[in-house]
Amino acid sequence: MERPLTQFIHPGCPPFDLREYEMTGGYAALRKALGGMTPMEVQQLVKDSGLKGRGGAGFSTGIKWGVVPMDEHAPHPKYLIANADEMEPGTFKDRLLLEGNPHQLIEGMILAAYAIQAEVSFIFLRWAYKKAAQLLRKSIHEAYVAGLLGKNILGSRFSLEMHLHTGVGRYMCGEETALLNALEGKRATPRAKPPYPQLSGLYGKPTIVNNVETLCNIPHIVNNGVSWFRGLSQSADSGTKLYGVSGKVNNPGCWELPMGVTIRELIEEHAGGMKNGYRLKGVLPGGASTDFLTADHLDVKMDFTDVQKTGSRLGTGTMVVLDDATCPVGFVHNLQHFFAQESCGLCTPCREGLPWVEKMLLSLELGTGTGQDMELLEMHTQMLGPGNTFCALAPGAMEPLQSALKYFRDDFEKHISMHRCPYD
Ligand code: NAD
Repeated sequence: MERPLTQFIHPGCPPFDLREYEMTGGYAALRKALGGMTPMEVQQLVKDSGLKGRGGAGFSTGIKWGVVPMDEHAPHPKYLIANADEMEPGTFKDRLLLEGNPHQLIEGMILAAYAIQAEVSFIFLRWAYKKAAQLLRKSIHEAYVAGLLGKNILGSRFSLEMHLHTGVGRYMCGEETALLNALEGKRATPRAKPPYPQLSGLYGKPTIVNNVETLCNIPHIVNNGVSWFRGLSQSADSGTKLYGVSGKVNNPGCWELPMGVTIRELIEEHAGGMKNGYRLKGVLPGGASTDFLTADHLDVKMDFTDVQKTGSRLGTGTMVVLDDATCPVGFVHNLQHFFAQESCGLCTPCREGLPWVEKMLLSLELGTGTGQDMELLEMHTQMLGPGNTFCALAPGAMEPLQSALKYFRDDFEKHISMHRCPYD
């Protein structure tokens, strides 16, 4: 089937510079918006398009922008921040956007800043994304020279400064309020919400933090309109999505596809099926902080609505496949090691609980675990669950654990009865 896509990524091709981007229609949306649309019209368009945040939470982008004060008494400066601190395990979609087409992000950011009337913007970039940093530096410079950034953009009354900020490699900085603290030079711990950053964000001023993929959609929505964007999807949620598959599949990768492709299509068609000798045991649909699904869920549509019905979440849409030769206990232990290391230490359940979870899983994996450890693990999935911690890190970490205890319980129990890992 010929798929109507938006030209997000070109894996394997050299990145677009300004001239190449403009040749493919780049910055036409910006000219259109600055030439004849009010900020509120851009906001309304994005709201009507049904675009939902692609960072993992899936909150409506238009509704989020709509919280920013727009009246004459609104505090200034306002800030627009691209969250490029992509550190969710298994997730690499934003890297492809940054490395393939940096101007697409810059144009999306200028449009978003125009819509909320922000004067200053930042790209908060993951420390490890060195190539992206180099490209973004060059592209921001090109945009300034071409009058696309700075004072009176394209001769309009709208002005915007853009800065690139590289983090120091902490998962916590992807949480929007910890990111704001890090930008302010403070310890990267989350802030209480509400107030949401839209009202009190960077330096206490109205701030929007949007994911890279979310922002890359904006120029296309402004260019092509609401029905075009909604029509790209094959499900209740609009647009396309960058989907990824990693694990023991023949063709691991990342593809832009209509929102709502099934897990089966992703794995069997795009990822080329399981490698010879391996069978699918489970998938984490959207990075490590989502619940496992199993071979019984292959016909679930990968959108925000359908995946949620299973008790899991779309998350970042970049799935990790667990095969039948990999120990689920070892797999989950590896994830919990990551989450325990990345806890910011602010709240006790997360700081103390995650290392205990990691220890219990290691004990099971080494064959020294007991039935009591299983009970304690179950208890921790509740104690570190939603509502008991300051932010979503620990509840996210519990998602793969609680679903592994549900779907792969036999594997956990065999570690206890055999006093060793049955996969060794
Ligand atoms: P969240 O649901 O609290 O918020 C999502 C966004 O919506 C935020 O920008 C928030 O300000 C806004 N929002 C939520 N409720 C609002 C309201 N009532 N009014 C106005 N705005 C509102 O989720 P979160 O803690 O920001 O993000 C958690 C998600 O991040 C997880 O689902 C996880 O999948 C994902 N994640 C992604 C990465 C990555 O590398 N991409 C890393 C870690 C986590």
